[in-house]
Amino acid sequence: MTFPSLRHSFCAVLLSLFAGLAAAGEVRLGVLAWLGSEEAEVQWAPLAQALQQRLPGQSIVLRHYDLAGMAAALRAGELEFAVTNPGHYVTLEAETGLTRIATQVGETSQNPAHAVGSAVVVLDRRLDLQRLEDLRGGNLAAVAADAFGGYQLAWAELQRLGLAPEEGNPQPHFTGFPMSRVVDAVLAGEADAGVLRACLLERLEQSGAVAPGRLRVLAQRPADGPCRVTTRLYPGWAFAAAPATDPALSRQVLLALLSMPPDAGGLSWTVPADYHPVHELLRQLRIGPYAFLRETGWDSLWQRYWPWVAGLLMFLLAWGVYTLRVEHLVQRRTRELSSALAERHRLEAQVHAGQQQMDHLSRLSILGELAGTLAHELNQPLATMGNYARSLLRRQQSGTLAPEALTQAAEEIANESERAAGILAGIRAMSRKRSRVREVWDLAELVQAADRLLHGMAPRGPAIVLGELPAAAERQVEVDPLQIQQVLLNLFKNAWDAQQSLGCTTPIEVSLSLVGERCGVAVRDHGPGLTPELRARLFEPFFTTKPDGLGLGLSICKTIIEAHGGELQAWVPPSGPGLIFHFTLPRAPLAVPAPTGSESL
Ligand code: ADP
Repeated sequence: MTFPSLRHSFCAVLLSLFAGLAAAGEVRLGVLAWLGSEEAEVQWAPLAQALQQRLPGQSIVLRHYDLAGMAAALRAGELEFAVTNPGHYVTLEAETGLTRIATQVGETSQNPAHAVGSAVVVLDRRLDLQRLEDLRGGNLAAVAADAFGGYQLAWAELQRLGLAPEEGNPQPHFTGFPMSRVVDAVLAGEADAGVLRACLLERLEQSGAVAPGRLRVLAQRPADGPCRVTTRLYPGWAFAAAPATDPALSRQVLLALLSMPPDAGGLSWTVPADYHPVHELLRQLRIGPYAFLRETGWDSLWQRYWPWVAGLLMFLLAWGVYTLRVEHLVQRRTRELSSALAERHRLEAQVHAGQQQMDHLSRLSILGELAGTLAHELNQPLATMGNYARSLLRRQQSGTLAPEALTQAAEEIANESERAAGILAGIRAMSRKRSRVREVWDLAELVQAADRLLHGMAPRGPAIVLGELPAAAERQVEVDPLQIQQVLLNLFKNAWDAQQSLGCTTPIEVSLSLVGERCGVAVRDHGPGLTPELRARLFEPFFTTKPDGLGLGLSICKTIIEAHGGELQAWVPPSGPGLIFHFTLPRAPLAVPAPTGSESL
């Protein structure tokens, strides 16, 4: 067998298979039996037959339901198609996913969007009833609360005018089906008005059931059909397919519906209308898919919104937990920082106190080193004073004391005692424990004061020569004068020690210079200097090459200079032997004259 012939045979088998399935297919058509099953059978059997004729391969099964029954059947997947009124269709569309494929037109108009309406009828002789508003406080007969054309359209119309049938104004009076009972109620005077589907009054009048002119349509509005209406017109009944229905079958059914001529009542099917106005109506009445709008109790609110509420609560809970945790962490961190800060302040205070103690000790140490010479030097003025005093005594005893000699001796004694007192005052100031201060001083004066102190204590020390000097206004520095004096004294003493080791008596040279915003002081000696290795360790605490040295002098000097915002360095002189110690100090912002008469200098 060739390939094309094989293919044809395969297609033929498939077609016959589908034809067999189609022949066996049952198409279940559910209809809303609003007048009861018997009426429904009478009303819809012709439609089922017409479909059956047009779909010979299918078996059309007609089933009747009330409103709830049809919804249940659709949910259970028991129907392929459903025919129901517009309001019910919109409800089922939202609930079950039903999709309209055709809309009924006929009696009222050929426009599918204007197929259903209602007439509110009153006895013609009731002249007091001319407008819908006149029904206020009256009775309104209708077949049932859930009848679309039989009640709900009129209800909506009344509501738009500010009346509230749901609150008994006008009071609804439900007669049940058939709709002729509504007419009976109005004719009997049991109700002031009745709601009828559009065209029913015309049919009843034609059949003679109601004498023409006996009943009047209230608030009649212009319509595009032959029937009188009170309400707006809405889309007609819907022929709809269940969500699971095969689209090909839906297409076949639609074609069949469109091809049907109008039935005995003039009803036919056309393309589906827009049911948006029905949605609007149901929303206004808060029924059907919009019934939830009238449920405002806590229970219904909870039913509807509990996922949101639960989500919100979860979020708030998580947010609360997060906030508490952050708060806790912040508090813990703050406590840690506070205690770290307190500890730092305590340590700083300790360091500060230690530094002051070191300063003091270092001052005492340098004084101690000079103490031997000091004793010797103080001895000299004391001896001189003693000599003058004894000489005066002798001359006085021998009666040879001339007034001039007395004056001269007294002056010498006074000079010597002043010299001794000056030396002691400097030492006392240096050895006193005190807090640091900041005062504006001329740096040259501080050099001279340190020189005086050194030579007061050690007159045989090398000369201090003050060389190069900037202008007085540029030499002003804001310092603790005693501390700077201590630094200078240390450098002078070290220079002296260095020179002494070589037996050198060359003067120690001091020069002042401007270094940017600072004033620099260089102390140069002619001692042996230092190897680069030793120079690297110069400022280390306890570094000393002297047998009786403490090794603290230079490290304290460095601390003092740095605390003043300056720098202390050791340089190799550009020429010749020795070492240069150079330090800088920031110049005072305002050059003011140095204070005079300081007790320490
Ligand atoms: P100390 O004088 O008690 O030794 P210092 O800290 O003042 O302590 O000095 C440390 C060391 O630096 C000294 O022992 C010395 O070796 C060296 N030194 C200080 N100044 C000079 C200098 N002008 N020339 C050579 N060496 C110096």
